[in-house]
Amino acid sequence: RLHRLEGYDSHERVVRVEDTRSGLRAIIAVHSTALGPAGGGCRLWTYRSQGEAIADVLNLSRGMTYKNALADVGFGGGKAVILGPVPKTRREDVFRSFGRAVNMLGGKYITAEDVGVAVSDMEQVSRETKFVCGLKEKNGIGGDPSLFTARGVLQGMKAAMKVRYQAGSLKGARVAVQGLGSVGAKLCDLLAAEGARLVVADIDEERAARLQARHGASRASLETILLEDVEVVAPCALGGAITGMVAKNMRAKVIAGAANNQLASREVEDILRRRHIAYAPDYVINAGGIIMVAAEYRGQFDPTYVRHEIDRIYQRTEEIVSTALRRDVSTVAVANEMVEQRLARR
Ligand code: NAD
Repeated sequence: RLHRLEGYDSHERVVRVEDTRSGLRAIIAVHSTALGPAGGGCRLWTYRSQGEAIADVLNLSRGMTYKNALADVGFGGGKAVILGPVPKTRREDVFRSFGRAVNMLGGKYITAEDVGVAVSDMEQVSRETKFVCGLKEKNGIGGDPSLFTARGVLQGMKAAMKVRYQAGSLKGARVAVQGLGSVGAKLCDLLAAEGARLVVADIDEERAARLQARHGASRASLETILLEDVEVVAPCALGGAITGMVAKNMRAKVIAGAANNQLASREVEDILRRRHIAYAPDYVINAGGIIMVAAEYRGQFDPTYVRHEIDRIYQRTEEIVSTALRRDVSTVAVANEMVEQRLARR
């Protein structure tokens, strides 16, 4: 059953889903369909309360409107959260039930995977609805989006380096990568191929050791990775990495990574601006995954087309960073303005 939740005027629609048979409890938030059906992943997380889940899904869905608008994928913004825990024995039923809920929204919301959700879960969803993407790979499209995300981050990083350091390439550039998971490790591979010099850190020692061995990377501690003497830092772990302390003390002049919500607070934007640190906004440069998934949704199983769309992140970032430097405003302000203009044109 879908219950419409009232009182969230910032969003087009927020629904609570409950299925006593499967045990599914979920919230689906459609922030905006101004630019197309609301596209955004489904997160499985154990929240402390329903209020916390609602706050999370509202935030995430608004973020998707921004990310999708600039990525130019023909999607509005939405997101879903399934309230965990989900027992293993019920997982299949829960995701099929979630698929039925998505279907009841009639294409207003398109789902995919997010934290805690796998391709196999989306395969279950797809048995109940066609409004789903992030399914098994076919012809190089679909499946794990992290390589596509890493490719986009690389483009954004190159553009920010060009504007901030007038650097035509990353050859010889020192890049500190925080977090060596799905995206971080692949970004390191791409950076090594470009001739960059890597400094790496991960709470998982083994991952850091593997990257060190593979690329002759230097290691930094968890505390100092973002403060290293490098040109670029790439936050690829969790959100909130760029705190006020980091922004005040970091030596790199470019921030370009995959993590969502990298800036810990609004004040950080201003510290970065004052210190002339070029921050490539996270939602602009980590859109490679959604670009691929949107192509999959439209049935465009053409890797060349997808690569071309991801490469457009370069021009977008170049425009944002150079405009911000010229006008002495934050890069986030410029990116947000671009989104708002796009939404207003509709
Ligand atoms: P992941 O879970 O595979 O990797 C995260 C890595 O960060 C892990 O190796 C973890 O050990 C490490 N880590 C966690 N805390 C750390 C810390 N304090 N210091 C150093 N390392 C730490 O996740 P992922 O899929 O690679 O995604 C990375 C980030 O990028 C996330 O914020 C995610 O939301 C964002 N993102 C991912 C994609 C994608 O395609 N996977 C797309 C857009 C955004």
